[in-house]
Amino acid sequence: MRDGDLLQTNVLGVDFDNITLDDAVALCLDYTKSRNGHYIVTPNPEIVMMANKNSLFKAAIAASSLTVADGIGVLYASKIIGRPLKGRIPGIDLASKLIEELAKQNKSVFLFGSKPGIAEKAADNLTAAYPGLVICGTENGYFTDDSLIIEKINTQSPDFLLVCLGAPKQELWMHKNAHQLSVGVMAGLGGSLDVFAGVVDRAPERWQKLGLEWLYRLLKQPSRIGRMAKLPMFLVYAVFERLKGNRHG
Ligand code: UDP
Repeated sequence: MRDGDLLQTNVLGVDFDNITLDDAVALCLDYTKSRNGHYIVTPNPEIVMMANKNSLFKAAIAASSLTVADGIGVLYASKIIGRPLKGRIPGIDLASKLIEELAKQNKSVFLFGSKPGIAEKAADNLTAAYPGLVICGTENGYFTDDSLIIEKINTQSPDFLLVCLGAPKQELWMHKNAHQLSVGVMAGLGGSLDVFAGVVDRAPERWQKLGLEWLYRLLKQPSRIGRMAKLPMFLVYAVFERLKGNRHG
């Protein structure tokens, strides 16, 4: 489903689209003109490492319409490897910018994921922040029956579906169901609904600009240390990849 014009950069086994935030938003807006179940994934280093151990997960990422680098670690790795990406595109930035544009056209958004009550809080905040936005449905991410959720989504046929179930659940869910979903575009966005709902803080802009969002999250949620401990190894693998590349000319 990938657009043939997109340039890709392979970072440790995952093909990233080398694209800016504005171009990614424009592409997503274009996807909303049809109902072809396009989906976007936003891997960070932890997800790349996970994908290398799980072939189904890797296939779900590869089958996406757009793969953008969420996380400074992927950007560093792309530079180390010698195939630098244009920049990082945090999933939540992509979602915010896309929602802002959709609101201007009175287009519809469906919020799926997170704990009960969170998507509704996020809906209140988003409609207050972006007048004109149509939130056409919400559903929490703790479910047992896919078909009920799919029916609810398809009844609304949203322009944009946020799928916030955490990785790899959200990518596997989109891959499995893309063909039967009537959505313009959907994206796997982890904890974004928690941020839109105001129950989790995002790092202040200065931290984001310094590429220290990961450190802020770690300080706020020290239990993430196990997940983040993978980042140094990720960069070491990138160095190996570079050395291997140099040896092979
Ligand atoms: N989640 C969910 N269903 C599940 C497991 C997780 O809806 O079965 C939600 C969880 O409530 C949280 C999000 O998925 O809102 C995952 O957030 P996390 O911060 O781990 O994701 P990240 O942003 O790091 O990818």
